[in-house]
Amino acid sequence: MTDCLFCKIVRGDIPAAKVYEDDEMIAFLDIKPTNPGHVLLVPKSHHASLLETPPELLGSMMQMVPSLARAVMKASQTDAFNLLCNTGSTAGQIVFHTHLHIIPRKPDDGYEHWHGQPYADQQEADRMANAIRAALQ
Ligand code: AMP
Ligand code: ZN
Repeated sequence: MTDCLFCKIVRGDIPAAKVYEDDEMIAFLDIKPTNPGHVLLVPKSHHASLLETPPELLGSMMQMVPSLARAVMKASQTDAFNLLCNTGSTAGQIVFHTHLHIIPRKPDDGYEHWHGQPYADQQEADRMANAIRAALQ
C-alpha cells in the first residue's frame, strides 16, 4: 500500500523511532504518546484492521507483547500498561493498518477507565449473551 502511513514507516520512507523489528513486525514510538514510552506494534504486511489480519500473524504479535511490554515498563519505570487495538473509526482507529498500542501507565496519570454501566436487568444481559452466542454459530 503506497499511501499507507505505517507501510511507509515499514519501508523506511518516513522516519520512526524503531525499538524492535523482526521478519513479521516492527515496533516504534507513537509520535503523540498517551504517556512517554507509548509504543505501536505493527505487522510489516498491510491489513486494514485486526479483523482483516491473518490469525497466525496476530498470534505472532501477541507472542511479542509480553517482552515488548516489559521493556516499555522498564524504560518508563512503571509496572502497568494498557494493550489497545482500536478497530473501526467509531472506536477511534485513525490509521487503517493493524497496530497494537502498548501504553505504559503511571499512578494518577489522569487516564480514567471507561465508565461501565450495568445492564438494566438480567433479561437484557441474557438477550445480549444469546445474540453473541448465536452470531458465533
Ligand atoms: P489509532 O487511533 O489506533 O489508529 O492510532 C494511530 C496512532 O498512530 C496514534 O496514536 C498516532 O499518534 C500514531 N501516529 C500517527 N502518525 C505517526 C507517525 N508518523 N509515527 C508514529 N506514530 C504515529
Ligand atoms: Zn499499510
